[in-house]
Parts: sequence; structure tokens; C-alpha cells
Amino acid sequence: MPTKRNILMVTAELAPWAKVGGLGDVAQALSAALAGRGHDVRVVLPLYGHLDRARLGIRPLKKLPPLALRVGQKVHDVRFHVQGPPAGRLKIYLVECEDLFAGRGIYTGPDGKGFADSLERASLHAQAALLLPRLLGWPVDVVHAHDAEAVPALLYRDHWYTGRDLPGPAATVLTIHNLAHQEIHLPDRVLDLGLPRSLAVYPGLLEFHGRMNLLKAGIASADRVNTVSPTYARETVADPAYGCGLEGVLGARGAGYSGILNGADDEVWDPLRDPHLAENYGPARLAGKDACRAALADELGLAVPGNPGRPDKPLCGFVGRLVHQKGVDLLIPLLERLVGDGFTFAVLGTGDRDLEAALDAVAARMPDAVSFTRVFDEALAHRIYAGCDLFLMPSLFEPCGLSQMYALKYGSPPVVRRTGGLADTVVDADDAAGTGFVFDQARPEALLACLRRAEALWDDPDRWAALQVRGMGCEFGWSRAAASYEDVYLQALEARTIRA
Ligand code: ADP
Repeated sequence: MPTKRNILMVTAELAPWAKVGGLGDVAQALSAALAGRGHDVRVVLPLYGHLDRARLGIRPLKKLPPLALRVGQKVHDVRFHVQGPPAGRLKIYLVECEDLFAGRGIYTGPDGKGFADSLERASLHAQAALLLPRLLGWPVDVVHAHDAEAVPALLYRDHWYTGRDLPGPAATVLTIHNLAHQEIHLPDRVLDLGLPRSLAVYPGLLEFHGRMNLLKAGIASADRVNTVSPTYARETVADPAYGCGLEGVLGARGAGYSGILNGADDEVWDPLRDPHLAENYGPARLAGKDACRAALADELGLAVPGNPGRPDKPLCGFVGRLVHQKGVDLLIPLLERLVGDGFTFAVLGTGDRDLEAALDAVAARMPDAVSFTRVFDEALAHRIYAGCDLFLMPSLFEPCGLSQMYALKYGSPPVVRRTGGLADTVVDADDAAGTGFVFDQARPEALLACLRRAEALWDDPDRWAALQVRGMGCEFGWSRAAASYEDVYLQALEARTIRA
């Protein structure tokens, strides 16, 4: 039995109600899996303006006093709230701050741009999180920060809490879900974090090429650092194209930097029980998937050529952030040609304006064959995973990727580039253990060649069904990952003892 730990999760996202991408799913499922293994996990996130307090059961935590927290030159009023049943195993705390969080979402405004006061928001979130152990009389073993936004919690732990009271050893762990988001600012902004200017000037911890870089500081200072798949961990150290400039800093961590593959939450992602689907189905009852395809085509106005039980060509799905990372640029130039061959497409996503506009244009030209839904819609995402025959994820890089795991579980073989977590979760159909289709070069022709292989296999229904069933049988439960995080926590605690 692993030792029970008190774990403070500092995250900007928590599924399903504060989610932009995979971080939200992981923060939720990992915390729940650790709590299920007996750890005392407390998640702290900002009380965003879009959260419906009444519907989500968010209520003030009356036993804690209101606080006044300084961020830069300003002092902000702060209150703690909680969410979920009082006896729930997982404890979720939300930080209310009228000035910084009210009326606004997670990272971006309606114009799609990041908030100018992202540092101030991150600072307040981190300060509130680190105050909780003392306010609750709860000795914290591990402060687990997720991505650049939560790095201030690690910095404050090391720079403020040498002289202040923080019960428990409070070893630090940083999990990187996306290396591309680093929070890079002018060095003077370090004052907004309440940290000394020397830290943002060479050779200070936050300094990176004349700027202040939060993620760099987190990587260099956390007791343990990990990312979300073994292949991405290797790629980010070995290849500057993946390291986003931080390859040297990551490499310098040696064995202190590792990759732990995310899981997929079976409670939420299971076609046998999914309430969003037209019909539930499983590996022993694949026919239900035909009903899901038909309902999806109907909902999106797609005319899928061929027999309803067996279209001429696969209906292809895409669900994800529309950013260049996701390889949408590889797909767009192929759409017209593939539609000419009888393929149909269901695309769901929001993101970069240029990609959205390109998809809008294709969908407007071929509305029967290409549907593009430009919103964030959790229920529609479920229906696409279930209703499509092939799931497209040609990412240029992918720290882990959850969508391909959901597609596997929903019997929709993924088409992926061999990178990061995609390489760790999808086996090419040419292999006896195949579960999907894998290609190497980040070029439209390579994706097209891969789709041609899928098209050929589609014409062999028995082999196709065998491919689906193998994918649906993949084990992506969170307990394996949770056990690996327990090891990382132990290593972090040992490193903290040596440091003390
Ligand atoms: P990333 O973390 O890079 O965004 P992942 O594949 O790890 O990519 O996770 C993406 C998650 O976000 C999945 O749960 C996916 O279904 C969801 N998602 C992305 N875009 C949308 C959208 N527009 N509507 C609903 N869900 C979405």
C-alpha cells in the first residue's frame, strides 16, 4: 500500500466545467484517481466568471475568513468557495476575486487573445492555494502545479515560505501538459509576481534570453518535473523542434524529468454508458455505432454516400483546438479531393482565426460533405467520437493527446502522426496488434497516403471490425498513471529532504 499523501493540486482547468483542453480532463481524472487510492487531494482553481454557482453547487466556505491579497501594487479581496458534495472524496476549492476573475473565462477573452493580466491572475491563484494548508490546518506533502499558469505556486513555496508558516514538507511537482505555453514576459513584470527583480535578471531563476519565463523557472526549480507521455519527454529533450527552446533546461534535469502517459476516464468515456449517444454500444454490439453515425449525419446535415450500415467511405471526425499544433493545416488542403472520393467530415473546434476561416470556407462550399461546428460542445464531441468511422489527429506535436484514446474506446480508429503520446497509444494497422493508422512526415501527402491505407482496409469489413475491437480493448485506466505519480511524489519528497 502506498503511503497516504496530502496533495495540493494547483490548476487553471478542471473538467467538465473549467476546461479548454486535455489539462482539464487530466486535472479532474488524476485527482479523482489519487483520491480513490486514499490520498487527500485538494484542488484549487480560480472561480471564473462563466461558472454557474447555483447549478454547479459552488458555495462560500464560511469557515475561512475573507482575505486581502497583494498582487503587484494592488490589494484584492478574496474569498474561498467549495464545490461538490460535502462528503465527497475529492475537495475542490475555488478562489473568488471580483477584480481578476469575475466575468471572465480561463485564458482568453471573446477576441481570442490572452488576458493582459494573466500574471496577476496566476499570482493571486497561487497565493490563495498556498495559504490553504495553514488556514485549514492541513499539512501538505506535495504541491502539484500544472503548466506555466500554476508555476507561481512553486516559486512562492521556495521564496516566500522559507520565513512563513507552511505546514508539511510541501515538496513541489510540475506537470507540463503543453510546452508551447510558457508565460514569457518583460523582466520588470516580475514585480507583479511580488518576487525580487534579481530573479528575472541573469543568472536569476526566471531569466531566459533576456525575458522572464515562468515555465523555465518551474522546470529548473520543481523537485520533480514530468510531462504526459514517455515519447514526448524524450522528444522535448532530444529535438529543439519539440523542446520549444527549453530542451536544455529540461535535459539538465536528467532523471528528475520523466514522462507519464495520461489515462482516459472510463466513467466519462465509455460508449456502453455514454448518455450523449443515440444508441449505446460496445465491442460485442458494434451495430449501435451505425445508429450513432446516422444520428450524427442527421444532426450535422451530412449526406453520407452508401448503405447506412456501411457507407462507401469512412465518415471522418476531428475534435480539438484549431491550432497549428493539431496538424489542421495538413488536412485542409486534402478535404476537397477526399470529398470527391466520397469521404465525409465532421469537424468540431475553436481556435486560430485563420484555421477557422479556412474550415468555414470549405464547409460552405461542400455543406453536405463537410460540417464545421465552431463552438466548444462537450456533448457533440461525444457524439462525434461515437458517430465517426475514422478519427483524425495529425498533430505536429502532441504531449499526450486524449482525443485519440477516446476515439479508440469508441471504436473509431485514429489516424495519427507518430509523435508524443500519439506514438505511445496508437499501433499501426500493419501490425498484428494494430489499432489505428500512423504516419511520419508532417506533410499533407503523408496524411493522404495514410488515409488511402485506411480506405483500403475499410473495404474489408471483417478486418476493420477486428481493428475497432482491438482499439476498444485498449487499457487506458488512470490507476497505472496514478501509481506513477505516487512514485514521483516520493522522489519529490526525497529531493525536498535533501534540499532542506
Ligand atoms: P489538448 O490538451 O492539446 O487540447 P487533448 O487531446 O489532450 O488535446 O484534449 C482535448 C480535449 O478537449 C478532449 O477532451 C477533446 O474532446 C476536448 N475538446 C477540444 N476541443 C473541443 C470542442 N470544441 N468541443 C468539445 N470538446 C473539445
